[in-house]
Amino acid sequence: MPRMKPIERIREKLLAQRRALFEQVARAADGLRWIDGNTHPETEEEAQEQSIANLLARLDERGNGELRTIDRALTLIEEGDYGTCEDCEEPIPVERLEVLPTATTCVFCAEARERAFGQRRRQGNVGDSSVAFETES
Ligand SMILES: [Zn+2]
Repeated sequence: MPRMKPIERIREKLLAQRRALFEQVARAADGLRWIDGNTHPETEEEAQEQSIANLLARLDERGNGELRTIDRALTLIEEGDYGTCEDCEEPIPVERLEVLPTATTCVFCAEARERAFGQRRRQGNVGDSSVAFETES
């Protein structure tokens, strides 16, 4: 077997992750069909559609976000822009990409983003609790 370039290995990894996500949805949908078929035979079709819609809505929150980051990474690979930090435009080390193929920033910028996000969240919590305190007293 010929040696694969790191980017090819990463691409394979992303595609495998994508397939796994789709399989997860398909399996869950199959499970729901079975349950619906056994509990509401008269409204099977309707219930089935409802359940799958609910499932996809739930996946929206978690899986769909993951799917979007995977698709984004795959698009970047195709365009030849993969592996460059979105924030500082420095190359992202291959070691980082192999661990986290969906990374679009270098470690430093990712940490900076996390810090900014954490600060916003903390500030939000302080604001919330002070409001609660005022209304209670
Ligand atoms: Zn960076």
